[in-house]
Amino acid sequence: MLFRVKRMPEETTEDEFSIHWIRDVVDRVLEREPDEYLVVTGKSMSGSVHIGFMKEIIIADTIKRELQAMGQQAKTVFIADDYDPIRSFPPSMNLSPEEWMGVPYSDAPDPSGCCDNLGAHYTNELIETFPDFGVDPEIVSQSKLYKTKEMLDAVRICLNHTETIREILIEYVARDFDDTQKAEYINSMKDWYPASVICPICGRLQSGGKGSIVPNRVTAYNVESEEVSYECAHCGHTETTHLDKLRLKLSWRVDWPAKWYVMKTTCEPAGKDHSVKGGSYDTGLEISRRVFGWSGPVKVPFEWVRFGGHDMGTSKGVVFTPRAWLNVAPPELFRYMVLRTDLERANNIQTDLIPDLVDIYETFERTYYGLDDVDNATQELTRLLYPLTVVRPVSDEYIPKLSFKFAVVTSQLQGILNRDEILERCYDVLKKQYNLTEVTSEAKALIPKRLERSLGWAKEFGSEQDTVEVPETVPADILSTFTDKDRLFLSKLVETLRIESLDEDGIQSSIFNIARDIGIKPKRAFQVLYNILISRKSGPRLGPFIITLGTDWVVDRISSIL
Ligand SMILES: [Zn+2]
Ligand SMILES: [Zn+2]
Repeated sequence: MLFRVKRMPEETTEDEFSIHWIRDVVDRVLEREPDEYLVVTGKSMSGSVHIGFMKEIIIADTIKRELQAMGQQAKTVFIADDYDPIRSFPPSMNLSPEEWMGVPYSDAPDPSGCCDNLGAHYTNELIETFPDFGVDPEIVSQSKLYKTKEMLDAVRICLNHTETIREILIEYVARDFDDTQKAEYINSMKDWYPASVICPICGRLQSGGKGSIVPNRVTAYNVESEEVSYECAHCGHTETTHLDKLRLKLSWRVDWPAKWYVMKTTCEPAGKDHSVKGGSYDTGLEISRRVFGWSGPVKVPFEWVRFGGHDMGTSKGVVFTPRAWLNVAPPELFRYMVLRTDLERANNIQTDLIPDLVDIYETFERTYYGLDDVDNATQELTRLLYPLTVVRPVSDEYIPKLSFKFAVVTSQLQGILNRDEILERCYDVLKKQYNLTEVTSEAKALIPKRLERSLGWAKEFGSEQDTVEVPETVPADILSTFTDKDRLFLSKLVETLRIESLDEDGIQSSIFNIARDIGIKPKRAFQVLYNILISRKSGPRLGPFIITLGTDWVVDRISSIL
């Protein structure tokens, strides 16, 4: 029973799966042969994280699942980069930017008061959605990592290899500079060190805001005594002391390979901006080889998620978070969209198409359970891909799913139908759709969430056509538009609905037949009915809608105005 049919752009209807990337990536990762495969992801905790970032998390989870399925020891790790300095605040933030700019996120307070610090707040907001998306990475806080002996050793190695790191950065960063730029850059690197210091006096790692940032860079390092000199660009505090006594942070192109080295990362996916040839990933791999003396992780580049055709940002106030996704769509759909797309292709989230996409995903699910006739190749691809889309273990038996589109309409009828009536309507639809005598408890258990999400979708992203609001009574200004013929049509329809027990198609054809007998256009007949039910000229398909409302309720509604 579908209420709404919409034409879809080609990219969503195309059912050519590009899942070969999974095999390719796993083959490359397997060549490393570590005792335990570590698939790592990371994100700066500088604000609410966008749903697009979940692509990275899901790619990592997929690699881990595949490795485990092959009998390998594998786990995922998520590094919350909460040691980064604050650069800006979203407009809604009630902390003073002057007071906190340049301080690490892990050192700033949580204005919501629910977490230890601001970095932890953004981290918690993200990781609390992980179980819903079927992922369970080990969570590592970058600020805590910097307190470990292993990370301090990595910092020491980098300071000892400052000259090599300078050479690598000049080679990679200045690669496309013109001669003047290159000369300037080389000059600026002469007294450059790969670490900055968090000032013990003012708590800052750098001074200034966007465009005028000056880090508290190390100004001298004595390899023998391990003494570090620095000057705070904000308060002017200056000091020379042993590196054990300071809170140091590596500069970002160096911080990444240091974390790989400390974690022993086997593989890390990275968005296109970092993984372009000669970009920060390649620079990091070079630092891994020449400074840390090992290969570094397997690079897995991917194209980001786009939103309605635009790139996604994270710092601009309103953010479509993973939690926001869970309020309007199933997590399995997001996994499916990521997995079926070639890694080099962008995923474009079109929120208006979510009901259609859920249909596509659930058709795919039925194919996995052999309920639809498809060719062998499709069946085989489905067998590989479907288990990677689910957020809980694959169930042995197919569990029938209530149509998302039906749920969109039904969930909006809570003012007219009580909870039990709504659930009964849903069971009836499931029975009919899947030819069931009984709805299993597993199938019933999924319905409340489906109603919640579809209602969330209708409110957030539904068009006028998707929104159904049934007023308590038919408004007077609408009543005054009805002609005698309209009323005759309505009384004939009420008679029919009272006497005959019609299904949705029966109702649909009765409306046509009665309109023709009376001599009004079917279009007008439908308009009159939509007017009576939802004070609009059009709406969801009438037959199913009347069944959902309940024929008795509709008969009473029409009779009340005759
Ligand atoms: Zn909090
Ligand atoms: Zn200072």
